[in-house]
Amino acid sequence: MKVIRSPKEMQGYCGSVKRAGRTIGFVPTMGCLHDGHISLVRRSVNENDVTVVSIFVNPTQFSQGEDFGRYPRDFRRDEVLLKKAGADAVFYPTSRRMYPRPFGTYVNVNGLTDGLCGKTRRGHFKGVTTIVAKLFNITKPDVSYFGQKDAQQALAIKKMVEDLNMDVRVKVLPIVREPDGLAMSSRNAYLRENERLDAVILYKSLKEAKRLVGRGRRDPSGIRAAIKEMILSKKSATKVDYIEVVDSTTLKPVKRIKGTVLIALAVWFGKTRLIDNIIVKG
Ligand code: AMP
Repeated sequence: MKVIRSPKEMQGYCGSVKRAGRTIGFVPTMGCLHDGHISLVRRSVNENDVTVVSIFVNPTQFSQGEDFGRYPRDFRRDEVLLKKAGADAVFYPTSRRMYPRPFGTYVNVNGLTDGLCGKTRRGHFKGVTTIVAKLFNITKPDVSYFGQKDAQQALAIKKMVEDLNMDVRVKVLPIVREPDGLAMSSRNAYLRENERLDAVILYKSLKEAKRLVGRGRRDPSGIRAAIKEMILSKKSATKVDYIEVVDSTTLKPVKRIKGTVLIALAVWFGKTRLIDNIIVKG
C-alpha cells in the first residue's frame, strides 16, 4: 500500500491508474479509523480496481473553539487497518500542502446545509464541500463512499456533485454501530465511562421513535418530545443541540410524518457532541 503525502504526487498516481483504464474508488476520512470507515473501504475494494483512502483532519471544517486540536490522530494504527482492508493507496497530506497560502476558493452548498448541524456548526459544511471537491480533483475517483452516519454531509456532497457536474458517483453506506447500538465515531474516544454508557440512549430513542411511527404516530412534535425525554433521563446528556424530523431529501422539517423522513439528532454528553439518525417510513 502506497502512502502519498504530496497532492501533486497523488494526482500523478491517480492519473496513471485512470490512463491504464482502471477504476478508482475513493474514501475520504479524518483518520482514527473504526469499523464504520473500514466498511466503506471494503466496499470500495470490492467494487473498484484501485481504492484510495484519504486521512486528513481538515481545519476548515472546524470552527473556533471546536476540537480540531485534540481530534484523535493515529496514523500508524490507521495504516495497518487500511492495509488489512485492502486499500491500495493512502493520501495523507499536511494542511500546508492542502491549503497553500493565501487560499481563497471555497465551495458552498446552500439550503441543505442551513439546518441540523449547519445551525450550530457555522461554516462546517463549507469546509467539508471545499475539501471534498479538492480531494475529488486530486484522486479522480469513479465512485466515492460516504457514511449515512453523516447524513447531511452525504446529501450536501451529492448536491455539490450534481450542481458542479463532477464526474463521480457518490455512494452512501449504512451506519455501523457498536454491539450496544452506539454509532461508531472517532469522537466516541472522548467519552468518559458514564457518558459512554449513557450515549446508548441515542439509538434507543431513535428506535423508539421508529416504533411509534410504526404504530401510527404522525406528529413530529410528539416524536421529538418522546426522544428528548428519553435522552434527558440520562445524567450525562448535558445538552440537546437538536432533534429534528425532516424530509429525507430536502432536510426541511416536516409538519406531518408521511413518506420517508429522517429523524436526526445531536446531543452533548459532557464535552462531547454526538450525532445519530434513523430513516423512518410513515
Ligand atoms: P470522518 O473520519 O468522521 O470524517 O468520516 C469519514 C467517513 O466515514 C464519512 O463518510 C462518515 O460518514 C463515515 N462514517 C463515520 N462513522 C461511520 C459509521 N459509524 N458508519 C458508517 N460510516 C461512518
